[in-house]
Amino acid sequence: MIAPDLKTAIDELRELVARSAVIVPFTGAGISTECGIPDFRSPGGIWTKMRPIDFSDFLASQEARDESWRRRFAMEESFGGARPGRGHQALASFYRAGKSPGVVTQNIDNLHQASGIAPQHVVELHGNTTYATCLECGTRYELPWVRQFFEASGRAPSCSSCNGHIKTATVSFGQAMPEAEMRRAEELTRSADLFIAIGSSLVVWPAAGFPLMAKRNGARLVIINREPTDFDDIADLVARHDIGAVLEPFIARPN
Ligand SMILES: [Zn+2]
Repeated sequence: MIAPDLKTAIDELRELVARSAVIVPFTGAGISTECGIPDFRSPGGIWTKMRPIDFSDFLASQEARDESWRRRFAMEESFGGARPGRGHQALASFYRAGKSPGVVTQNIDNLHQASGIAPQHVVELHGNTTYATCLECGTRYELPWVRQFFEASGRAPSCSSCNGHIKTATVSFGQAMPEAEMRRAEELTRSADLFIAIGSSLVVWPAAGFPLMAKRNGARLVIINREPTDFDDIADLVARHDIGAVLEPFIARPN
C-alpha cells in the first residue's frame, strides 16, 4: 500500500516492525540530506554541474589525483562536521535492540557508524570517504595526513610503503564494485524478514537488485522515499514522506 499520510505510514511501519525478527535497512542519499549532505546524483546535484573524476583518469594522471583531493577537501569544509540524522538514529535503535543485524548502504558518509552501528555491521557498497587507502597495498591513511601533505606540496601523496596511489576509500565511477561487500549485502538481504529501502531511488545497479531479492525470499518490503520507485508496486508499504519524520518515532530514547 502507498501510505496516504504520515500518520498511516508510521502506524503501518510500527506494525511491520513489531511482527518482524530480522530488519535489514538499505539506505541511499535521502537519509543523509537532513544532515546537510547533498544528493550528488540528484537533479541539480554536484555531479550534474561538475563531471566526476573517472577511476581510469585517477589512475592515469597526477593532475586528476590532485583535482580529486582538492575537491575532497573542499567538500570537507561544507559537511565534514555532519552528524547522524533521525533516520540513522532510528536504524541504530533497531540494531541496539537486536532487531537488525546491520545495514546496507550506498552512502559514503560514515553516518551509520557515527550513529552507533559497529563498522563491521555497515556494508558500504560505494565505500567510505572519511578515510583513504593505498590502491596497491591497502594501507589505510587518515585524511588529516593526506591534507597536510597536499597543502605542503600541492600534490596528492603516494603510499609511503609501496608508492601506490592513495585514494579515498570510495568506489569511484568506473571502478569495480567491491565483491566482499556485495556478498555480505546479499547475505544480509536474504536473512531479512523485513527489508526497508530508505532514501534510494533504487535505480542504479546494484541497488535495484536488493528489494527484489528480499521480496522473492519472502521478506516484507518497505520503501521510504520522496519520489516513486520502480518497486513501489511490489512493496508492502510505501511512504513518500520525509524520511526523518517517518523514522523519528522509532528512535529509542533512554528511560
Ligand atoms: Zn601502498
